[in-house]
Formats: sequence, C-alpha cells, structure tokens
Amino acid sequence: MNIFSRRARLGNAWAVNVRLRIAQGKIATIASAAEPQAGDVVVDTLLPALANLHSHSFQRAMAGMTEYRAQDRESFWTWRTLMYRFLDHLSPDHIAAIAALTFMEMQKAGYAAVGEFHYVHHQPGGQAYDNPAELSLQIIQAAALTGIGLTHLPVLYTYGGLQAQPLAGGQLRFGNSVDAFCDIVSLSEKAMAALPADTCIGIAPHSLRATSESDLRQALDLHAGMPVHMHIAEQTKEVEEVAAMRGARPVEWVLGQCEVNEQWCLIHATHMTESETAALAKSGAVAGLCPITEANLGDGIFNGASYVAHGGTFGIGSDS
Ligand SMILES: [Zn+2]
Repeated sequence: MNIFSRRARLGNAWAVNVRLRIAQGKIATIASAAEPQAGDVVVDTLLPALANLHSHSFQRAMAGMTEYRAQDRESFWTWRTLMYRFLDHLSPDHIAAIAALTFMEMQKAGYAAVGEFHYVHHQPGGQAYDNPAELSLQIIQAAALTGIGLTHLPVLYTYGGLQAQPLAGGQLRFGNSVDAFCDIVSLSEKAMAALPADTCIGIAPHSLRATSESDLRQALDLHAGMPVHMHIAEQTKEVEEVAAMRGARPVEWVLGQCEVNEQWCLIHATHMTESETAALAKSGAVAGLCPITEANLGDGIFNGASYVAHGGTFGIGSDS
C-alpha cells in the first residue's frame, strides 16, 4: 500500500505532498514534494502516532469499579485501597491478557507506543515467582503479540511511606530491594532484545514515598542513561510529607538532588510552585500528564500555561 498526503509532520516540521510506501506493514520509504500515483490512498494530513507515556495496564480491568462516589470520603487513597484488593486476584495469565487487550485498545485509539510503569512483580503475599521478572515477561510478550512499541519501566517500590514504613497488604506484590530490582531490569532487558527497535527499557523509582534517598541514588547510578519515570506530586498530602521529611517539595527536591534531564519523565507534576514550574521546564524533563486520572481523582490542575511559557515539554498518559 502507498499513501499520499497533502501535508505531513516529519520530525519537527511540516512537509507537503508526502508519499509513503508501506511494505510488510511498515513504512519503507517517505518522500516529500512527491506526486500522487494511481492506486495511492490519498489523505489530507498525516501525523506521527502518539506515545502513551504512562500506563499501568492491569488497572484497565478495574475501570468502572471506582468511578463513582459511594460515600463522601472517596479520594485517591480510597481508590488505592480498592486497587490493592483487586490485584490480589491477578495471576500472570490475567496480567498478560489484560495487557494485550489494553495495548490493542491503545493502538485502536491512535497510540503507537506505551510507557508501561510496571509495579506488580510478585505473587500475592510478596513471594517472588521462580523467575523474578515473570510479570515483566508477561508485559513484554503482550507488547510483542500486539505490536505496540514498549518502553518497559520496572518499578522500584520498597517502602509504605516516607518514614520507610514496611509494605503491607496489596503492596507486598510490589516490593524489591535495589538488588532484586536490578535483576528484574536486566532479565527484562534480555527478554526484550528480540523485540523491534521501538522497544526499550527504563526504570521507575515509584515515588519519593516508596523509595529511600539512598536506594534512589543507587538505582539511578546503576542505570545511568536509561529513561527514568517517577510519580512526583499528585497529592497535596504527599507534597506536605515530602516537604516536612526532606526539607523541600517533591519537584524541588528531585531537581535539587538528581541530575534531571531529557531522559526523565515526572508523572503527575500537579502540585508545583511557580519556581518549580520554571525549573522543571528548564531541566528538559517531560511532565507526564494523565488528565483522566487527575480529573477523576480531583488531584488538582497542572500549571500548564506557565510551564509552556517557560518552554516546558509535556506528554500525555492514559494511566489506569
Ligand atoms: Zn501512575
């Protein structure tokens, strides 16, 4: 099949009269200033497919369980309790099937790639699978099966709060030491070697509340150069706790303590002061916005106008 488009976004610029030759399901050649030829599919405008920068695919199967108000006290934290109960029932087969369905839905919606922020690693109760990367392998297979470009982001989640509280209940499936986490990353990386070029591995220290300062530094040092995704400032409660414990608000702390650059994506950078907004924009990091979650949970409104005015880069995630 060949496609002729009157205009197309190529790289960072518009081109006119663009002709694409498709061979074996892939774009084989792109020519601009071309002429349409007999049999071409003619369209007006072509854009590159979007990347969905933040997904926890297993949560797709709990959609509808939480999107209503049963009592006045519903919040992010009550949503999270239900999510923990839900994932107690998920087997590796469930994880694979849900991921494959979700990745197909994403492609039907126009996404060609996904950042899968993957934090369910272990069996219910916290026992590791025989292969500690078992559930990562299910995600990787789902990507291979459906053809989506995968940035796999194994999550480092070690504590139940900023004071290094032990994990409990549903959180036990997430927990890893830095060493165990490194094993999952390297096993995942090996399993991804055979996948197409739009596949890559990164790391996701879950949040400042789920990693200690020293674990975070160690994980970053051991995976230098990889994409880094992190939940940052979704809830005012966590912003206040981080400020109290670490002497700086979450975005301020990360920008001050880590070498944040274009490889970083800060998810839910919802609560930022003006100076944090300007500094994040200047760092080159991507602000990962998840508008459906942030609206559903009443998180707050990202300071988009100021961020863009400072030249900040942002992307969109589907999240749950
Ligand atoms: Zn998330």
